[in-house]
Amino acid sequence: MSRIRTVRGREVLDSRGNPTVECDVETDDGLFRAMVPSGASAGIHEAVELRDGGRRFHGRGTRRAVDNINNIMSKKIVGMDCTDQNGVDDLLIELDGTENKEQLGANAILAVSIAVCKAGAAATGKKLYEYVGELYGKPYPRMLPVPQHNIINGGKHAGQENSIQEHMIMPVGAKSFREALRMASEIYHALKNILKKRLGAGAVLIGDEGGFAPPQLKTIHERLDILMEAISSVGYEDEIKLAIDSASSEFFEDGIYRLEGKEMSAGELIDYYSDVVSSYPIVSWEDGMAEDDWDGWVEMTKKLGDRIQIVGDDLLVTNPRRIKKAIEIRAANSALIKLNQIGTVTETLEAVKLAHSNRWTAVCSHRSGETEDSFLADFTVGVSSSQIKCGAPARSERLSKYNQLLRIEEELDKEAKYPGEKFRTK
Ligand code: PEP
Ligand code: MG
Repeated sequence: MSRIRTVRGREVLDSRGNPTVECDVETDDGLFRAMVPSGASAGIHEAVELRDGGRRFHGRGTRRAVDNINNIMSKKIVGMDCTDQNGVDDLLIELDGTENKEQLGANAILAVSIAVCKAGAAATGKKLYEYVGELYGKPYPRMLPVPQHNIINGGKHAGQENSIQEHMIMPVGAKSFREALRMASEIYHALKNILKKRLGAGAVLIGDEGGFAPPQLKTIHERLDILMEAISSVGYEDEIKLAIDSASSEFFEDGIYRLEGKEMSAGELIDYYSDVVSSYPIVSWEDGMAEDDWDGWVEMTKKLGDRIQIVGDDLLVTNPRRIKKAIEIRAANSALIKLNQIGTVTETLEAVKLAHSNRWTAVCSHRSGETEDSFLADFTVGVSSSQIKCGAPARSERLSKYNQLLRIEEELDKEAKYPGEKFRTK
């Protein structure tokens, strides 16, 4: 048992230079700090990120959220046992009192929740991933995740409209996470050289998640062709599979999907995806359908779900209620897990548990606006998730997670498996 002595919030900046919330929790064991990330193609069903409005920071200030930590949450949390993650999170949820955390702000609540989790690990003398594993309740078998590296950025993350958002490589043929990251880095730099040579220096400017954002490549075919070329140029055709995130809510309106200059119904879009899946070694497709197009999701899962992983992000928003519905009606077979979509560590653990106990995969994910906090890496190993999505193997806000996974793998030595083999089916 270790009592929380002080809780202090502050406004800091994220990887896009926008304000976000940081929280320091102090206990007898020291000071524990957490920072929360922020999405751009955020789902409408996500817990509320509290922003100030007005002129300061173009309305994106987080003073109100920070004040809620310093004036409301801290008064209740100080004195509590930091190893009581459930108790702390329940209290924060109760203090907020709304369905979507709009009163105190999910950004404020999550900053406190993660900082308390880090303090709890120290109080019990455990590594953070070990402690998360205990909170999760089922820490074994230990696994290092297969990364999904978004190395061609499109859509909102790259200043583009009506285009696929993420084109990702998964080093499934690697024997370890370290090897996976090396392969990804080699491909990333091979791609950079090809893009520069063929399309000029402007083609290697990067998007929000560290991937290249060549404005000349407008279709998924053009992007995946050049990606495949980069992969084979370094000899990894057999070790790499691909994953896509359409972020299709961004190009869906009034029942119509507007992608790459075409207007499509859900059925037509699924046929289009199906052709793409047949032409490239794709093993995972996220947000193929829009966040409330449940029928479209069911159809896509029926058509492609036995061939590839169908991942719900904006559809599910890490919300156990929405995940439960999707499991019941077979609207996907995998949940993207973003802590700030739901707002507490405890609820996120519940979402992962729900996915895993129904034989779904859970892909732990960063946001496009990130910070140097590496909590996600420990969380992913703690819950034994088979995959992590953290952007390109470049930019420090992305590498903070990947580098932490290198450290964890080194520490676990042979105890941890790298589950790449699972995805080598295609
Ligand atoms: C995503 O859509 O999966 C993503 C990481 O982007 P954002 O954080 O902008 O929602
Ligand atoms: Mg997504």
